[in-house]
Amino acid sequence: MDARSEPPDNGESVVRLPLGRTNAYVVRGPAPILVDAGMPGQHGALCRHLRRLGLDGADIALVVVTHAHVDHTGGLPWICRATRAPVACHRDATAPLRAGLNAALRPRTPLGWAMLPILRRGPRPPCVEPDLVIDREISLQPYGTAGFVVPTPGHTRGCLSVQVGHDAVVGDLLMARFMGPRRPIAPFFLEDAVSWEHSLRLLLARGVERFHTAHGGCFEADAVVSLLKNVTR
Ligand SMILES: [Zn+2]
Repeated sequence: MDARSEPPDNGESVVRLPLGRTNAYVVRGPAPILVDAGMPGQHGALCRHLRRLGLDGADIALVVVTHAHVDHTGGLPWICRATRAPVACHRDATAPLRAGLNAALRPRTPLGWAMLPILRRGPRPPCVEPDLVIDREISLQPYGTAGFVVPTPGHTRGCLSVQVGHDAVVGDLLMARFMGPRRPIAPFFLEDAVSWEHSLRLLLARGVERFHTAHGGCFEADAVVSLLKNVTR
């Protein structure tokens, strides 16, 4: 693992676990929570990241799947074997998770359309039986963390975010712009643009100041507000 792929261990409660082109996250606390699990075959890197944080699979109290796309669900079979932690997903993610399919991939941009056949030829997601199906906000207090899992549909209808204080792990609700100045953009794949905007406004209203994404790291609330000002439908 080279230095660029090591998670920053700065004592923050939300720690990014870089897995190539995607990020998983750990929410630290008395009972750590893993958010997403990377691509199939990335469990080795996931395991190394957890060890560096002094954790192993058995320490994880809950696994939250932000949505049913293979770059977020691929490592679930390993994490399910390594821990007895329940796997939580949105109600609308249960069918693709169980069937080993990707949830909707609705391109928003020409690049999204160009990527679609490549993704369809890519690795198949594993079949996973979720333990906890979420269709409304839930508290993480039973898992030892003062935070919440919040439905944030848009990228797909079955998307979740994990909020701890002023931080939220948002999966693919946002992504980094590919070229030019670094700033957040809407994901290349957007199933429901109206819900997407509502989800971002909801998180801002809930006091989220840092949006931790799967593709592009962290964005401050100001950048998200600017993005929403420029939204045209
Ligand atoms: Zn996705």
